[in-house]
Amino acid sequence: MPEDHRQSPARPLRSAELLAVGSELTNGETRDTNGGELAAALAAEGVSVRRISALPDDLAAVTAAFRGALAAADVVVATGGLGPTPDDLTREAVAAVVGEVPAVDPGLEAWLRGLFEKRGMPLLAVNLKQAWLIPSSTSIPNANGTAPGWWVDRPDGRVVILLPGPPREMRPMWASWVLPRLRERGLGDGRLARTLRLYGIGESVVADRLGDAMLRRANPVVATYARADWLDVRISAVDEPDPAGGPPVPARTILDETTEAVRAALAEHVRTEGETGWADLVAGAAAAADVRIATFEIGTRGALAALLASVPAVERSVVSGGAREADPASFPVEDEAAHAARDAGVAVGCAVAARTDASHTVLRVAVSIAGEAEPSVMDLRLFQHGEHGLFRAAVATAAFLLDVLESRSGDPGPP
Ligand code: AMP
Ligand code: MG
Repeated sequence: MPEDHRQSPARPLRSAELLAVGSELTNGETRDTNGGELAAALAAEGVSVRRISALPDDLAAVTAAFRGALAAADVVVATGGLGPTPDDLTREAVAAVVGEVPAVDPGLEAWLRGLFEKRGMPLLAVNLKQAWLIPSSTSIPNANGTAPGWWVDRPDGRVVILLPGPPREMRPMWASWVLPRLRERGLGDGRLARTLRLYGIGESVVADRLGDAMLRRANPVVATYARADWLDVRISAVDEPDPAGGPPVPARTILDETTEAVRAALAEHVRTEGETGWADLVAGAAAAADVRIATFEIGTRGALAALLASVPAVERSVVSGGAREADPASFPVEDEAAHAARDAGVAVGCAVAARTDASHTVLRVAVSIAGEAEPSVMDLRLFQHGEHGLFRAAVATAAFLLDVLESRSGDPGPP
């Protein structure tokens, strides 16, 4: 918690609004990634994010946005507009909304002068803006730039956080300074959440199997998100008060019971939990089987190599033919899988040939394991096309490779 005599009344911080300030965002030159990252971090704490807005460098617009956000949410987090130039107006906007006048803080000025000296740059009058504080603000240190943030306490316990726009400055300030202090204030509604990641099933089938009763409840909330690589089922719960006045049912109990029910309904499709991706799963399976892998792909424009780029067990990834197409029906993927493994001197070879056209993508995958006479082969037609279809082809290849690796891990195993 900030060492601050203006300690605000206890107000649970349950809702948030996020503002991304900068004309580069509203004219489309830069994408607002801060908003999504902060929203994810807040949602993970059980904070309900009511709105994410991008705003131009316009004092009236930014001031109005702060005014609206402060009326609606317990926490307002803004990124951007903390630079030294006259178009960076976030501090001015907040000062106007809370009715205070910014002044140069001697401590921040000394820090800023030291920083410029070290960089051998002159400190200009405009730079002093970055040493501003208002009476109700506490400075948030920035270890990676010249723009300190502001933590502003409102008399009613709401909090305004200002962070610089560049993600490499914003992220550490958020994670190591802001978030722990917000937590101390009482962040979120005690919501616990878990995401199950499913593969090989569509959103409507999931909805059908889970049923309306499960998908429409307020507590727990069960929601599905169709992504390119997974179908995510996110379950979240808060403590459920007992209408008779007894002790509440803990969020943990509700979460665990619901997870079990969802798993029971969708068992064969649940592959993992949380943020785990295909590369993590393949890496884990290869480590468990103690094998190294070589891949070969044609017609996929390197989608498989890209998907598995971070897998330590992948010894070699060959992308053949660039954008050239292969006919999966006639391409000798079985031979390529065996060649790939032999050429790289590893136990497992995985080859895929794919072709995408205007309506679908077809692929054939072979996984060869040293010591086994026949490679495992899969043929698949995906009703996606273009880049997306090729990405889905890579995911399908990884899923098949994983199946093969996992089905072998009970055996004596490959040499
Ligand atoms: P600032 O000087 O604080 O306004 O931030 C300047 C730079 O930070 C911009 O040029 C962008 O590259 C980056 N930036 C600002 N806002 C965002 C945002 N919401 N998401 C991602 N990058 C941003
Ligand atoms: Mg800016």
